[in-house]
Amino acid sequence: MDFEVATLCCHSGKPLAKGSAKQVLCLASANKFDKFSDYAEAAHVYRRYGSPNTKELGDAIALLEGGESGLACSSGMGAILAALLAVCKRGDVLVAPRDPYGGTYDLLVNDFDRFGISVRLEDVLDLVRLDATLSELYAAATAGVSGRIAVFVETFSNPLVKVADIPAISKLCKKYGCVLIVDNTFGTPVQLKPLKQGADMVVHSATKFLGGHNDAMAGALVGSSEYVTSAAGIVARWGLAASPFDSWLVLRGIQTLKVRIQRQWQSASILSQRLSAHPLPLRVHAAQGCSIVALEVPNGLDGAAAAIDAFQMITLCPSLGGVTTTVSHSASSSHSFLPRDQRIALGITDGLLRISVGLEHVDDIWADLERGIFAAAATSHPGR
Ligand SMILES: *Cc1c(COP(=O)(O)O)cnc(C)c1O
Repeated sequence: MDFEVATLCCHSGKPLAKGSAKQVLCLASANKFDKFSDYAEAAHVYRRYGSPNTKELGDAIALLEGGESGLACSSGMGAILAALLAVCKRGDVLVAPRDPYGGTYDLLVNDFDRFGISVRLEDVLDLVRLDATLSELYAAATAGVSGRIAVFVETFSNPLVKVADIPAISKLCKKYGCVLIVDNTFGTPVQLKPLKQGADMVVHSATKFLGGHNDAMAGALVGSSEYVTSAAGIVARWGLAASPFDSWLVLRGIQTLKVRIQRQWQSASILSQRLSAHPLPLRVHAAQGCSIVALEVPNGLDGAAAAIDAFQMITLCPSLGGVTTTVSHSASSSHSFLPRDQRIALGITDGLLRISVGLEHVDDIWADLERGIFAAAATSHPGR
């Protein structure tokens, strides 16, 4: 039966332990066997290959994303690495955004060379440009100059929440025979199901919205059994499996995913309207369905620092997607890897604050935001 996502979330995780109404935390690093014949049939022999808790989490996320199979990993980065290595091999080309999540950028720029996989960073949201790039790479691949092409995109860009048109991107990928991998961390399966829109694989930082309480680190990948089996081999060999306790926490978090996401983005849309109508000129970046709001306060770095220091409730925290509202300063954290000119050209200015809207009352969040904005404005002095 096809259940709505709220129902799937509440019932997430089929407890694998017999007779228990809820998931049982299983910390054992290996199974024991009374009979040799049992050993051959066992699914989870040794924890590096997965545990009952990681299996429950992988299955639950696969169900939410509408994928054939899913796998829980130690972190979002672990999931991204395993997913990309499952589809790319030596000689292949990976097309990815110029301004992805900072950890993804580091991975692509520092490590993919080692595998002989070339990385092409592009404005993947510009469909005309993407078409031209894929067409050029396709010609090189058919001429035998390079291997397969894979495309990696994020559903909402970080921190400016630009929306990726997944159906259009996937159409281009099909045109040129490319594999499409989508990071749906910001979208979550509550808002978006990239596999249903033509993507081949979805990856998540479950550390963020899926876990939702800033107390667990995990990742997940979902796709066809073929890709997931290939990724599972990488996860086992490289030691990238999720820990049982983190899996257990994320699965607990998922049960309230839909109500959290809905409430967070309702508040985000109220706040972005109020920010846009503010008498001070603030540049606001927000997107339908996303509870991340980016806000450019006056007076650059000084303004951003003053706002962060003036917040009484909103905490500076380099993560997102939890129950409390947090702020991060992208220029000095997630996007500090970009040369300044390039970063500013992308719109990630020194005064830009990324707000992850939490579950507090919207008026309390607003009061704190205003406190920060006025503090930012007060840093200006003649001659600056
Ligand atoms: C945080 C994040 C990641 C990395 O996830 P970790 O769990 O920190 O390894 C990847 N993609 C996006 C969009 C993220 O926000």
